[in-house]
Amino acid sequence: MHYNGTEPTIQLVDLQRQYETLRDELLPAMDDVLKGMHLNLGPNVQAFEKEFAAFCGAAEGIGVGSGTDALYLALRACEIGPGDEVITVANTFIATVEAIAMAGAHPVFVDVDPLTQTMDVAQVEAAITPRTRALLPVHLFGQAADMGALRDLVAAQRAFGRNLWLIEDASQAHGATDGGKGVGALGDIAAFSLYYSKNLGAYGEAGIVTTNNPELADRVRMLRDHGSRERYYHDLIGMNSRLDELQAVVVRTKLRRLEEWNKLRRAHAAAYDARLADLVADGLIEIPYERPDPLHRHVYYTYVVQVAAEAREMLREALSTYGIATGIHYPLPLHLQQACSVIGCGLPPGSLPVTERLADRILSLPMFPELRDDEIARVCDAIHACLHQKSEIASPLP
Ligand SMILES: *Cc1c(COP(=O)(O)O)cnc(C)c1O
Repeated sequence: MHYNGTEPTIQLVDLQRQYETLRDELLPAMDDVLKGMHLNLGPNVQAFEKEFAAFCGAAEGIGVGSGTDALYLALRACEIGPGDEVITVANTFIATVEAIAMAGAHPVFVDVDPLTQTMDVAQVEAAITPRTRALLPVHLFGQAADMGALRDLVAAQRAFGRNLWLIEDASQAHGATDGGKGVGALGDIAAFSLYYSKNLGAYGEAGIVTTNNPELADRVRMLRDHGSRERYYHDLIGMNSRLDELQAVVVRTKLRRLEEWNKLRRAHAAAYDARLADLVADGLIEIPYERPDPLHRHVYYTYVVQVAAEAREMLREALSTYGIATGIHYPLPLHLQQACSVIGCGLPPGSLPVTERLADRILSLPMFPELRDDEIARVCDAIHACLHQKSEIASPLP
């Protein structure tokens, strides 16, 4: 198979294609908002908060300005600040750690499970100190962390009189479940990004906090709106992080399709799995691991394979010559980032071996609900062409 330069590029996420399916419904709804000129915390925000909380199985939703703000506000609602430690992972987007630092607390990294690539619960206990106030697992790539085990761990710590919060970074997993329950309702409080490339994305910056704890919900509601319940009367030093009505209209419209979109993502993942199975058998590629539990649902924000570190750049370049976009989420783990050494949570190379090995091997393939079967076939054919060619070169002559 040869790419002749005429076939259209397959993007990692093709949002234009999705917009075409939404346009006729979305533009009149946005027009209504603009005619009404009630632009923030209005009826669409209130409706979205209820609809999204119900979607997760949580009691409360609080719309905010971004996923980063959602994490920060969740930490602030738990009264986490200077002197406190928050245990998290290093294979995540920088925002997870930025939020901890913005709250004034200290991020502490633990390694991840090599299969699920989410927080390795077995390592958490050893990382707990008298200053630890929260665990902040990330539901990476669309798959929930092992929340049952984390809840048990937190309950055991609480039984010892330790006040420990369980906070979910659910920014990549809208609609994922663990133990049959939706992410966003699996800990004390959860933060979702509604960044435009996420499974549920606005057309600008947006985020939402969910929780079953009315006191935490109340504090987030105040903090996102200058610490006030009543305009010009401020009980807390908060911030401006309100979800606006235009973004709320966008995410309400999309939320009605999210279940169907997540099903399509899962179907695309199954198609990739099947088309790559022979390469898996030959040990040339690893496909995403999904916990074999019907109550645990992966929603494939990204479809991330693993290849030998030495082969990855060659594969990326080859795919790009076939007109196929790929990504690396993420190339440099947070504990090795300059920004983390500046705030004192950097660690020397080798400290988180599983995370570091993954960073060298992972490759994200195109994944979005509107992806077509012929495109998945094209991606997989190109991977075959490239990896088989390489394995022939690498194998000794007969
Ligand atoms: C996208 C993302 C965020 C940040 O969300 P923004 O809306 O861009 O601020 C936080 N954590 C994770 C894991 C993310 O993927």
